[in-house]
Amino acid sequence: MKSPSIFGGLFIYRLNNYIRPMRKITADYIFPISSKPLKNGLIIIEDNGKIIDVLPNKNNSGDDVEYHRGIICPGFINSHCHLELSFFKGMLAEHTGLDVFIRDILALKRPELDIIHQSIIDAEDEMLKNGIVAVGDISNGDTTYLQKAKRNMIYHTFIEVFAFDPAKSADVFANAVKLFGEYPEGLHKSITPHAPYSVSDELFKLIHDFSQKNNSILSIHNQECDGENELFQTKSGTIYERIKSWGTDLSHFHPTGKNSIQSYLHKMPQDSKILLVHNTVTTLEDIQWATNNHQHLYWCFCPNANLYIENKLASFQAFIAANARCVVGTDSYASNWSLSVLDELKTISKNDPSINLETLLLWATKNGAEFMNFDSKLGTLEKGKQPGINLIYDLDGLKLTPETKVKSLTYLFRT
Ligand SMILES: [Zn+2]
Repeated sequence: MKSPSIFGGLFIYRLNNYIRPMRKITADYIFPISSKPLKNGLIIIEDNGKIIDVLPNKNNSGDDVEYHRGIICPGFINSHCHLELSFFKGMLAEHTGLDVFIRDILALKRPELDIIHQSIIDAEDEMLKNGIVAVGDISNGDTTYLQKAKRNMIYHTFIEVFAFDPAKSADVFANAVKLFGEYPEGLHKSITPHAPYSVSDELFKLIHDFSQKNNSILSIHNQECDGENELFQTKSGTIYERIKSWGTDLSHFHPTGKNSIQSYLHKMPQDSKILLVHNTVTTLEDIQWATNNHQHLYWCFCPNANLYIENKLASFQAFIAANARCVVGTDSYASNWSLSVLDELKTISKNDPSINLETLLLWATKNGAEFMNFDSKLGTLEKGKQPGINLIYDLDGLKLTPETKVKSLTYLFRT
């Protein structure tokens, strides 16, 4: 015969299955992102964050309704991060330019593994507190694997390769395939190029073929500084000088007379979704040329990292004019003061107040989820999804201010 405590447990288990606990939440506005904002709308969720319904302004009073000042939107998608570099927090000088930044980051000594692991745990915790539910994360090694296996948030890991010397491409790629095989079972991954100036044609070809076999999504750092365009235009400039300073053989490299993206995009697979990261010196002509030549491009802004390194921002209006699919990333603690998508949106808004909140939130939620194929669950407030529920508060009307904050109303979100 079963003991009373087991009977009690069974009773509660059955009760939970018949009467599912739910929360009704309202705020000044709900931004579903998949549809227009709802003034004083109502969102009903299960206690695990799964959305039961999103309703316009009706039936939203009563003792069982949580009311919040501010706006409610889906959990944020951080489309570009390097979690493994979190230990660099505060260590690299600001405004040095990309070539010096690369020199410094390669020269700095790595700390002990337990310090690296703790910095990864802390960085993930900060992102969760800042309402981030999914991350596109660049990895050169396996130091983040343990934390990602805990599934506190959803990751797509881009295992990154670089080698400008063609002779090194086979070894570099073999190491990436090994890291790919060791990645925790069931999590999302691909092998991706670092940047157009750090990957030889031979290495691009290996990535291309592997991507096609594995139906991969890809990411590449794109047009982060003028020196990158100059390298491809005329085989000169700061990036050219930096590569030369390492004794790299550049005899195989021939300038194209064109900007960087127009010189390398054909080396990437045509059928893969590609995330172009930074785009600080990308022109309207580059965007139009690229979207005419590739159907699956997403453009990632990391404004605070761009201010940290180059003290320069992308031409946001050019991307809006070209109707480009934009997303937002924090980059890493090597080049940022925080890991907060909201902080990135504040920087964009401050520098271009004409971009409205609806557009900023589209970049920070739906577009990133769509790029990483997480959109069946994340990115919009729609029935059946479990996207995380963010409250953004201390706004000036519907404008972000330096005081604006975010908190997750579904902190117990799990994959
Ligand atoms: Zn990066």
